[in-house]
Amino acid sequence: MKLRSLHNAIRFVVIPSLVMIYASNTMAASRIHRLADDQYQLRLSKSRADPITILQVTDQHMGKKGFWRQDLETCRRTRRLVEQYHPDLIAITGDLLTGEKYFDDLLILYAMEFFDGLKTPWLYVYGNHDPEGGTGRDRIYEIFSTSEWGMLGFHTTPDGQRKYDYLIDVLTNNEQTPQWELYNFDSGSEKGNKSIKQVQLDWSQKRSEESKQKYKKTIPAVSFFHIPLKDYQDMWDDPAIEKFGECEEKVCYEEDDGSVYQSFLNVGNVKACFCGHDHYNNYWGIHHGGILLAYGHISGEATNYNWPTGGKLITLSSNADINVQNVMPDSVMMRLERK
Ligand SMILES: [Zn+2]
Repeated sequence: MKLRSLHNAIRFVVIPSLVMIYASNTMAASRIHRLADDQYQLRLSKSRADPITILQVTDQHMGKKGFWRQDLETCRRTRRLVEQYHPDLIAITGDLLTGEKYFDDLLILYAMEFFDGLKTPWLYVYGNHDPEGGTGRDRIYEIFSTSEWGMLGFHTTPDGQRKYDYLIDVLTNNEQTPQWELYNFDSGSEKGNKSIKQVQLDWSQKRSEESKQKYKKTIPAVSFFHIPLKDYQDMWDDPAIEKFGECEEKVCYEEDDGSVYQSFLNVGNVKACFCGHDHYNNYWGIHHGGILLAYGHISGEATNYNWPTGGKLITLSSNADINVQNVMPDSVMMRLERK
């Protein structure tokens, strides 16, 4: 008798909470399909009228020897942001990993397992430090391609080079036409390859043209990459353009010469660009020609930063409006003292 009432009490407590967990997983269900080496389809379980939210995180620089406390804090703060904002997608815009690669494959595996554990789709583009330290792009790709929730694609150029640029079609419910397209680029690392090059723009122009032909209209697009464009500096220097957020260092646009922005204007589908790389810049504004240029907000505790680390919350609305804000976690268990 005693046992039975205990059993009933357990059923009463446990079963409703199991149902709730199941229901919330069902509601949040997203499906990722790989359509080609350079193309994914991300289908979100929401109506076309609902806004799509993306949490951009950037420049974590994880894996520096002796910085495990900071790496742990980076992960906890990102997890807290996901709990606060429930984004549909996380965009990691490069320099996720330190260039040192002291922990080799285990570092890459840990980063993947951390993001997979958030049970939210994530996309990743290479930063300049990610392929350093003897663990190049192909090795990171090999490991990330086993991810349950992550996306990283590539295409092969006419001269046989593999470039880690890819497209994600974002669809809602059972719609057949993407609501948004995400063009994700590897902005390079090595001298002579430290910006988005023409061969990569040729690829995105071809993909954009195919999309126009297929859907008989221009699907609005957003682009993610690591190294900022020269136009970020031009925009900051132009007093006629309203900017939000902060600029505390010169824009390190490396080898970019303005051709990427011009290509996006020519094609006409890209509405916004999001980059990382400069830890002391987190501003955004609408540049000449109408494209929103935005920095992420520094996420890495193990590197240099000026503000509390966090991310960028991007909201894509059904009428193609884009809203952005810098976000920081509202409370994090700070059980570890900084060194
Ligand atoms: Zn960088």
